[in-house]
Amino acid sequence: MKLLQYLKGGKNHFVTITTHKIEVMKGCFRVGLYKQGLLHDLSKYTPTEFLMGMVYYQGTRSPNNAEREAKGYSSAWLHHKGRNKHHYEYWIDYLSDVKNSDKPVICGCKMPVKYVVEMFEDRVAACKIYNKEKFKVTDPWQYYNSGRTRELLHPDTRKLLEHLLKMYAKCGQDYTEAYIRKKILHNDKNVFVKLFTSGKRRNKK
Ligand SMILES: [Zn+2]
Repeated sequence: MKLLQYLKGGKNHFVTITTHKIEVMKGCFRVGLYKQGLLHDLSKYTPTEFLMGMVYYQGTRSPNNAEREAKGYSSAWLHHKGRNKHHYEYWIDYLSDVKNSDKPVICGCKMPVKYVVEMFEDRVAACKIYNKEKFKVTDPWQYYNSGRTRELLHPDTRKLLEHLLKMYAKCGQDYTEAYIRKKILHNDKNVFVKLFTSGKRRNKK
């Protein structure tokens, strides 16, 4: 019964995306990005994205990958990355001076800092959920390092993201998020810091 399979996939997909959303929200709240924390990945609940998540749910990897394999592209991902500014793919555009450049025709534009921070929190949350109790502060940097994200990032965006991931790997969550609040976002009055850092997932330092 396909319908039953889709309903089960839908339920599991809902749990997956909501668990992730809550983890990113906590991170965004800790650094003072309240609006972004609330709105993060909301488009995943729209029919265009959610229905594909139901149909292609597998549990071991993103349904976008399964849809991509089946159709040659992922309609859910194209919809998602066009609406969520914390994805560097949102910021990929034509080069303004194509004729006089030997660079590729499309390139990553410089992302506003608040979205780089949200991208950082997104990556940390994904690693925490994926690795569960085995999660280490070095995981987000290692995951970034093993991929090819850097190839499409604007040099300034790349520099900031790598700086934060390396700091997280070396000094842990509390230190890095305090740095983000004070030095990156200039916003250090935050009631959510204590609320979300007093639990068991305290990192060293
Ligand atoms: Zn997203």
